[in-house]
Amino acid sequence: MASLSALVDLSWLMALLQEKPKFHQSCPCQPSTTQQSFFCKDCMLGFLFCESCKNYSLDHRDHQVLQVFKFVYQRLGIRVSVIQDLFYLSDIEYDNIENYGWIVYIDRKIQEKQHGSSGSSNSSKSGYKGRKECEVCECELQSSTSKYCSIECKVEKQTNSIITSYDE
Ligand SMILES: [Zn+2]
Ligand SMILES: [Zn+2]
Ligand SMILES: [Zn+2]
Repeated sequence: MASLSALVDLSWLMALLQEKPKFHQSCPCQPSTTQQSFFCKDCMLGFLFCESCKNYSLDHRDHQVLQVFKFVYQRLGIRVSVIQDLFYLSDIEYDNIENYGWIVYIDRKIQEKQHGSSGSSNSSKSGYKGRKECEVCECELQSSTSKYCSIECKVEKQTNSIITSYDE
């Protein structure tokens, strides 16, 4: 059942998704230096922490801050242990990454082909038995029990269904 509170719960995740470009930025002081990316759930803001200049422009000491990691294909991820109490992760695929542990991706994989809304036309071409695709972006999933490749896809699906149910 969709409810307004469900939409409110998603608001910080939508902010997280909007802040994605920030996590790919470099500190102006020295782009090669060690940096860490964070998202503050209270401020709904992404920010970087740079080891060199200690650039910590905003004070989030008493806030709920999540660390964001960058992985292959420039994908962004958050540790499952950190986000699992904040967002219902069911149906999203996890990935076990060396030195990080279980990760859930924030954003979907960037695919070579254009993924529009009319993906069903070529599904027979690429699909073989047992292939499991993300319900939103149609990228291939590793796990047959998952429905979404990322938080982005699950949030998109949920917001669409909530908005649709309010239109009725
Ligand atoms: Zn810096
Ligand atoms: Zn904050
Ligand atoms: Zn997806």
